[in-house]
Amino acid sequence: MLTTTLHEDLRQGVRQLCDRYPVSYWRELDGREAYPEAFVEAMTKAGHLGALIPEEYGGGGLGVTEASIILEEVNRSGGNAGVCHAQMYIMGTILRHGSDAQKREYLPKIAIGELRLQSFGVTEPDAGSDTLSISTSAVRKGDKYVVNGQKIWNSRTQYSDLMLLLVRTTPLSEVKRRTEGLSVLLVDLRQAVGHGLTIQPIKTMMTHFTNHLFFDDMEVPVENLIGQEGMGFRYILDGMNAERILIAAESIGDGDWFVEKATNYAKERVVFGRPIGQNQGVQFPIARAHVNLRAADLMRFRAAEMFDAGQPCGAEANMAKLLGSEASWEAANACVQTFGGFGFAREFDVERKFRETRLYQVAPISTNLILAFVGQNVLGMPRSY
Ligand SMILES: Cc1cc2nc3c(=O)[nH]c(=O)nc-3n(C[C@H](O)[C@H](O)[C@H](O)COP(=O)(O)OP(=O)(O)OC[C@H]3O[C@@H](n4cnc5c(N)ncnc54)[C@H](O)[C@@H]3O)c2cc1C
Repeated sequence: MLTTTLHEDLRQGVRQLCDRYPVSYWRELDGREAYPEAFVEAMTKAGHLGALIPEEYGGGGLGVTEASIILEEVNRSGGNAGVCHAQMYIMGTILRHGSDAQKREYLPKIAIGELRLQSFGVTEPDAGSDTLSISTSAVRKGDKYVVNGQKIWNSRTQYSDLMLLLVRTTPLSEVKRRTEGLSVLLVDLRQAVGHGLTIQPIKTMMTHFTNHLFFDDMEVPVENLIGQEGMGFRYILDGMNAERILIAAESIGDGDWFVEKATNYAKERVVFGRPIGQNQGVQFPIARAHVNLRAADLMRFRAAEMFDAGQPCGAEANMAKLLGSEASWEAANACVQTFGGFGFAREFDVERKFRETRLYQVAPISTNLILAFVGQNVLGMPRSY
């Protein structure tokens, strides 16, 4: 895809904002596992997190292509868009499947950051990657759903006002197809925490604000059901394609950061009387990572273009995410190796980004599950599950 003036202007705008939050800002927050409130606020004010919300609801009216450029630039600057990326795309389920009243109520407030919807509850401890086996139940009682169960790896919940929650409204044993009987609820966390919802933070390798959630008779008003009861799996699927394209872009931003950092260091660091980058054993891994990043980037823009044109893009979104996350990890490894001992020193930031970018081969979907999707759904080989 050729670069447009809009995209160049957008990149410049995001770069200027990110310049105010240099690597030292992220390093300091990472050290005390603190949320980058000032950065998220600035991204919100600049309208970046409302990019995908149509203008009629006060958003930027942009596509996934542009949204992906925004997040790519954040990671390219040395930051971590994972702290706020979900505010961009979770609302897509309301936008595409919510009622007019829900759209009018929530989207304008999400667009300006008055409401944060950046918590998405899908994964459960027992179901793992097998989403259709989730068992968190919502039973209708009058004008309320009563929710019981658990979610795990629920990120940013403590920095969110709302959460999109996938629940079973019909038990698995009572549905004809496993994709049936799932529903999507919009949970108001401000009311739910302490009233049936307990949040237990999980410490992770990188700072990610992720949690184990426990639901014990948590009540959700029936009017917070998105779309039709029982159709929830279909609703979250198209949102997942957007998520995968955006994660691919973040990975590519990370990868380019590593390549630039490694390249500069390889030119400057002199050992045995010459720059280490003069040795092809140092130069080639960096060059190869760059090659693979450019290839991943093509697939990311292809997937984004198809998503924005309303075409089915499950295969492309998954492939972009796989290629992007592997290319960024390859670049991360090359960068650590190039830095030698300093690759492990906090003050050089390589180790932080290394920890952060590793996640994307596991979440939001692991590499094996993407390969299974391609093997089974694209190539038509026998299903393994
Ligand atoms: C930091 C972090 C943040 C997250 N944030 C969120 C969030 O906000 N919301 C949310 O809902 N989830 C979130 N997740 C969950 C994430 O999507 C899952 O961790 C991921 O989908 C993998 O599921 P799992 O951890 O249960 O692994 P499992 O399903 O237990 O799989 C473990 C390993 O086995 C492999 N495997 C499993 N089945 C097969 C198979 N049939 N064939 C081949 N290989 C297989 C997998 O590829 C994986 O490598 C987050 C996870 C992390 C770590």
